[in-house]
Amino acid sequence: MTREYERLVPSFPGFCGCETCRDDVIVFALNRIPPHYVTQRRGAVLQHLKMQRDQELADISVALLEGFRRVQKSPRADHRGPAAKPTG
Ligand SMILES: [Zn+2]
Repeated sequence: MTREYERLVPSFPGFCGCETCRDDVIVFALNRIPPHYVTQRRGAVLQHLKMQRDQELADISVALLEGFRRVQKSPRADHRGPAAKPTG
């Protein structure tokens, strides 16, 4: 999930990217995709998951993209802001 996030971040150059916003995007996406995507266990239904992997990634990407848009549009009031430079 985080890997997909990292992959998609460059698609949103203006995205804040602070920890709060990142978490919001990921949590949003996690809430949008079917639970079995994120609770998959190694070895259990590997074959099944393999077949689903392409669709799974597509769904995760879509969910993440929507999360990006949401958070970008209305970031939390208490988020840290984009890579704040230490001043003084
Ligand atoms: Zn932020």
